[in-house]
Amino acid sequence: MSDILNEVLAANEEYSAHFGDKAHLPLPPKRRFAILTCMDARLDPAKFAGLAEGDAHVIRNAGGRASDDAIRSLIISYKLLGTKEWFVIHHTDCGMETFTNDVIRQLLSNSLETAEFDGQNWKDVGRGPGSKEGEYIEFLPIRNLKQSVIDDVERIRSHPLVPNYIPIYGFIYDVKSGRLVEVPEATRIGQAVTI
Ligand code: ZN
Repeated sequence: MSDILNEVLAANEEYSAHFGDKAHLPLPPKRRFAILTCMDARLDPAKFAGLAEGDAHVIRNAGGRASDDAIRSLIISYKLLGTKEWFVIHHTDCGMETFTNDVIRQLLSNSLETAEFDGQNWKDVGRGPGSKEGEYIEFLPIRNLKQSVIDDVERIRSHPLVPNYIPIYGFIYDVKSGRLVEVPEATRIGQAVTI
């Protein structure tokens, strides 16, 4: 068995041995909010936002982008599970700023092995064959961090299946300080319309 597999199963054994009251948590998130953020390994929403099991929905993908699938989750989050406030949190030094659709498509067309990044450019070092399937995927890379938060809040805000009473807050998480920095324009666009 791989080391990682062993480590994960051992950690889980320990976790479940002290599971306690969490057995009785209800399905809907107790604090009624959701976070959409990046999958970056340096971000731990439970820690940086003070979450315990059962508190909130955390939806993660590469970049924390408002993809169709992220919006699918947010819709389920409010419609079936009662969340009332949402956060979109992108972060500094995001890998999604290091490439374009063309770049990753080119890398994938060369090979399916992990490419190398020299701090400026990506280079494919694998042996082929790759695949042209990347041409059909929108990878949602980020050109401008602040703008990507604004764009994603705007997209969620204007989605026909998202009700206008849910406020959507826009933030950038700073990987150097662990601090959440608001993007005021995003939060302004995301504000709820209360009637
Ligand atoms: Zn990221």
